[in-house]
Amino acid sequence: MEQRRLMLAFAHPDDESHLAGSTIAKYAAEGAEVVVVITTRGEAGEIAPGVDATPENLGEVREAELRASVKVAGASLEMLNYRDSGMAGTPENNDPRAFVQAPEQQVVGELAELMRKHRPQVVVTFDENGGYGHPDHIFISKTTSIAFRESGNPEYSSPGGLKPWSPLKLYYMAFPRSRIKRFFEEYRKMKPDNDITNADPETFGVPDDMFTTQLKVAKYVPVRREAASKHRSQGSPFDVFPESMHEDIFSVDHLILIDPTPAPGTAETDLFEGI
Ligand SMILES: [Zn+2]
Repeated sequence: MEQRRLMLAFAHPDDESHLAGSTIAKYAAEGAEVVVVITTRGEAGEIAPGVDATPENLGEVREAELRASVKVAGASLEMLNYRDSGMAGTPENNDPRAFVQAPEQQVVGELAELMRKHRPQVVVTFDENGGYGHPDHIFISKTTSIAFRESGNPEYSSPGGLKPWSPLKLYYMAFPRSRIKRFFEEYRKMKPDNDITNADPETFGVPDDMFTTQLKVAKYVPVRREAASKHRSQGSPFDVFPESMHEDIFSVDHLILIDPTPAPGTAETDLFEGI
């Protein structure tokens, strides 16, 4: 069988481990080449108490955390050189270096170039709403989807001039809404006084019946946790949960096959199914 290669494209350091840490660890452990693409250094993130970082050097700190995290999961890393655009409606959206300010065609070119370089059969990114509406997540979903189609187009020239490569499958990855609701419930029990679970769970994740692909990843939950723990400056809302609950909540990863269009009733258990 041909060497399997998987590319996952997200926006911020820690997106990869919180959303896809187990999937990355699984395919890396099974011998696939896994490359993670991250487009910003998460400069608009928070700084957890006790972490030696300032708003000025947070990008550098987070890049180092990301490198450590990706290494734990067994993947390689490619970074684009944009700035974290911050949450929707914040002044950081308007910074000229912000990811969302970049010309769409420029980002598509950079992503297509990376696809031509790494030649993944399978590409994964956020769903169209970026999990919960973060503008950078929405933008990487859109640009990755366009790059997925352009990468194999002989008429399309990417900035480094590499030869066309057609990835075979595009997936959107998200949390099922039922899991978000469960997380909110459990979180409220652990921390009744919090501002996370005041949000409307219907605005997070994707309805359960949209997923085409479920990966059994219970075995990789400890690696996922270790990879996520490298993002020390951010802390994690999942940290309040005991180990057993991590295994319970994260035992399955969920994805939606976007391209090729799945037949009705598609229920895959492997991203490389059919390849
Ligand atoms: Zn993010």
